[in-house]
Amino acid sequence: MNRRTILKKGLLLGLSATLPVSSVFSGIRQATQPVNNGIHTFTLGKLELFVVTDGHILFKKVQPSFAPDVPANQVKQVLDENFLPDSADLGVNILIIKSGDKIILLDTGCGTILGDSSGWLLRNLPKTGIQPSQITDIVITHGHPDHMGGLLGKNGELAFPSANIHLSRLEYEFWQSPSPDFSKSKMKDEVLKTMVVKTTKKTLDKIKPHLHLFEDGSRILNCLTLKIAPGHTPGHTISTIFSAGQELVHVADLVHSPVLVFAHPEWGFDGDTDFGLAATTRKNVLEELARSRQQVFSYHLPWPGLGHVRKKGKGFEWVQTGFALPD
Ligand SMILES: [Zn+2]
Repeated sequence: MNRRTILKKGLLLGLSATLPVSSVFSGIRQATQPVNNGIHTFTLGKLELFVVTDGHILFKKVQPSFAPDVPANQVKQVLDENFLPDSADLGVNILIIKSGDKIILLDTGCGTILGDSSGWLLRNLPKTGIQPSQITDIVITHGHPDHMGGLLGKNGELAFPSANIHLSRLEYEFWQSPSPDFSKSKMKDEVLKTMVVKTTKKTLDKIKPHLHLFEDGSRILNCLTLKIAPGHTPGHTISTIFSAGQELVHVADLVHSPVLVFAHPEWGFDGDTDFGLAATTRKNVLEELARSRQQVFSYHLPWPGLGHVRKKGKGFEWVQTGFALPD
């Protein structure tokens, strides 16, 4: 699949997202140039952590990608109550862990796949003092192009040539099967699904010599526990980062909206491979995060993706962590 075709079709996540190169919609402008800094630095126990922005993914309309089966007036009411426009602008937040001599990336962003509004990781990474060749390990939470796209450079070369790449065995087997099963997805565009499968298979082929497949519950690199949270994809992985008694839960693509799927986890997202299972997993994990009061990192929630989950009515609420100063 060439880049132009993908751009023309829109891609991934809610594969129906449209990707205007420059547009103004509901007051949200699509940024096509990397922002000034794009780095957030913090610590967890003995670990040094960075969040690096890979850019953003703008959905011009909330529906049908979000809450595809819910009456529009109900969706509008929740958006209005939360001062949100009828569009969704998703961050692409990439977490980096420095642990002794290991430098670990959690997902790699979109690479060259989604155009100029994303794929900024390689340009932003040096601001952390880290060069691509220094990355020792990469955890891929699942096989979608906005998570794996950055594994390859613009000429198809490995962007992080020294890195071991960790992926769940379930996820690998799903994408390697002759025809991955999307029968429980709400996504309707067969051509698009075929293209995504082709892109993911091609990337997996290229990285195969560097791949390390893990099982549900695996503990790796002395700072990560990897748990399968199925639905968005079959091997979709939630990573708990731990050090010296502190924890941070990287929820990957459990949630794509700071409001809609918190208030109504069952309203769902059409980028989920198994719509129903994703909703059940989302509800169960949010329940657990609210109970445990753990610190959470999200790949697609507003920058820098750090916050907590709490109960609100019959649903949940995202409580974003605020910072007095930019880094
Ligand atoms: Zn994603």
